[in-house]
Amino acid sequence: MPPAASAFSALSERVSLHTACVRAGQPRQDALDAVTTPIACTATYAFGSTAELRDHFEGRTDREEYGRYGNPTVRVAEEKLAALDGGQDAALFASGMAAITTTLFALLKKGDHVVLTADCYRRTRVFVQGFLTRYGVVATLVPAGDLDALEAAVTNDTKLIITESPTNPYLRIADIAAISRIKSKSPRLKVIVDATFATPVNQRPLSQGADLVIHSCTKYLGGHNDLLAGVVTGDAGLVSIVRDLRSMLGSVLDPHAAYLLLRGIKTLALRVERQNTTALTVARFLEAHPAVERVFYPGLPSHPDHELARRTMSGFGGVVSFVLRTTLEGTARALDACELATMAPSLGGVETLIEQPALMSHYEMTPEERAAIGIRESLVRLSVGIEDASDIIADLERVLRTIEIANDSAAASCGNNTQV
Ligand SMILES: *Cc1c(COP(=O)(O)O)cnc(C)c1O
Repeated sequence: MPPAASAFSALSERVSLHTACVRAGQPRQDALDAVTTPIACTATYAFGSTAELRDHFEGRTDREEYGRYGNPTVRVAEEKLAALDGGQDAALFASGMAAITTTLFALLKKGDHVVLTADCYRRTRVFVQGFLTRYGVVATLVPAGDLDALEAAVTNDTKLIITESPTNPYLRIADIAAISRIKSKSPRLKVIVDATFATPVNQRPLSQGADLVIHSCTKYLGGHNDLLAGVVTGDAGLVSIVRDLRSMLGSVLDPHAAYLLLRGIKTLALRVERQNTTALTVARFLEAHPAVERVFYPGLPSHPDHELARRTMSGFGGVVSFVLRTTLEGTARALDACELATMAPSLGGVETLIEQPALMSHYEMTPEERAAIGIRESLVRLSVGIEDASDIIADLERVLRTIEIANDSAAASCGNNTQV
């Protein structure tokens, strides 16, 4: 059984987030006297005697047993992440989706009801609606930002509210404290927040009443576009239920990826604070540009959740979405012309990435289907990296200058049906 996370939680209460990024999570014993956490590259762990084995199984020792149940390098990363989120414990997974699917499988059974916000991560929604329903789970989707609809959707059978903040691609902000108050309607109700876009630097949902937080560590936490990982943090009892299923499903994180993650997190606060600043600068530049019809960034007063973000977050994040005054093809040409911003899915790394959701994450949909969920043809999502803001802006400025503004772009295929 893994140890309780009390030591690092205590640390995280005394030190700043910057300090916790570097120092929270310590290997339990380190034969190398290394300052950094070694990669424990082993599939199994030796017992010196049957007596040691008995001590382990009867919970008298704190040690590893077999790689699918735990790994010391992974454990240190879990301790660090628990400390950053202010959680009692954390469990790491091979990807963000492994964290989400394992958590939902672990906490739901036939007949349970889940409420999720309509703009949550698409794979999460597809998993719940298209897969969990096969096992008798009932799901209700409610519009983003509609607390009344959320509360009205909760019944006696509701086990989970799954929300996300900020959301992709319109960066809607969830009022986590208000959502968590809905828990008083039903004693078994838990709130899970996918806080991938926020990171513990910008928002700590557990302190606002959420029971569990999930991050795709592939994004900001790893931060270097070199690993896949996911984590669930929060209440120790819930995390333990999720970890037990992980041991069965085998969706564990490899110790090499855990090492990269530990290394990445050391600079998390530095990176995210810079990305917050750069994204706001870029968002203001875009909002003033004639080729840009609309910018979605919670740090701008024009964003519908600006006040909520100011009240509940300590930074607005590194992702900026915007609609160009041109067509699908005009937008594609603009992205093709970018030199600094790299066209790629994903976000949160040190490299600035750019994508056109209509031709990337929502490619297989028809224009009508995209319109129905508010994905405009000329929508662009930019994830700013840690390059100089002036270089990012120069790249965008050069590209935007070439755009031939389409007169009909405001009407282009999506009408008034955007989610914001
Ligand atoms: C990327 C992402 C996921 C999935 O994470 P993977 O590590 O790609 O499996 C889940 N939620 C959000 C909000 C994401 O951005």
